[in-house]
Amino acid sequence: MTAASTLERSSGPEFDGPVLDARGVHKSFGSLEVLKGIDLQIAKGETVVILGPSGSGKSTFLRCINLLETLDAGRIQVGGRDVGYEVRKGRLHELAADELARRRADIGMVFQHFNLFPHLNVLQNIIEGPVGVRGQSRAKAVATAQSLLTRVGLEGREKSYPRQLSGGQQQRVAIARALAMQPQLMLFDEPTSALDPELVGEVLATMRDLANEGLTMAVVTHEISFAREAADRVVFMDKGVIVEQGPPAKVLDDPQHERTKAFLARFL
Ligand code: ADP
Ligand code: MG
Repeated sequence: MTAASTLERSSGPEFDGPVLDARGVHKSFGSLEVLKGIDLQIAKGETVVILGPSGSGKSTFLRCINLLETLDAGRIQVGGRDVGYEVRKGRLHELAADELARRRADIGMVFQHFNLFPHLNVLQNIIEGPVGVRGQSRAKAVATAQSLLTRVGLEGREKSYPRQLSGGQQQRVAIARALAMQPQLMLFDEPTSALDPELVGEVLATMRDLANEGLTMAVVTHEISFAREAADRVVFMDKGVIVEQGPPAKVLDDPQHERTKAFLARFL
């Protein structure tokens, strides 16, 4: 095996390792150590729900996966490749901006605040990435966008502007926009936290469908019922470490650690 092949395993359709492979991830902001060595693998088709108190480092971890934050130590690969680096002559080199944008596009991210472009209509919001970053033809991107809108229950809303939609509808557009890039991995950071309570259900239902369809997802949420119904695995994080993880029934109903018990007690 050459040095390069140990650094960068084959990606593409023949790659059968974990979609996400995060090892020893450390991140500090100044003297505040926020991530203290996170190891997390997510298999293809797996839905992992990440629970934990506010400030435990959940968002920072998702942002590290997407290179919105740089790591202080550790390594994160998506589909067998480092997100921010490439291997040349057996060494890691930082990626050029255009290649970084392409690799980032393999990771879809949905935030608490939907971050749609307010001056673009629904269709324009969805096709902007596929046409601009992926270089797809407009016709193909439009056809994909239309089928995605059907998938998130917003058929026929192509011409609406974000301000004309409810928060739940906007978040479903944001999900369609992320899916339009055909990401290998979808990250959701508290996607329903900013919604009025009556709109939470429609977004969770869309996410549950995606999980059932075999999308590979990491979801940070406080929606315990979603974790119970949709997660293959629940990960409990506190103070920058993964405290425990396992199947939802195990972690939610029979937690082993005091910190997990104390956290879950708030939801009873
Ligand atoms: P969570 O998503 O679990 O609530 P975060 O990852 O957002 O936690 O934050 C973890 C800790 O890191 C918090 O104490 C937060 O204040 C701090 N933090 C996050 N981002 C920054 C930043 N850019 N600069 C300084 N501190 C930050
Ligand atoms: Mg957060």
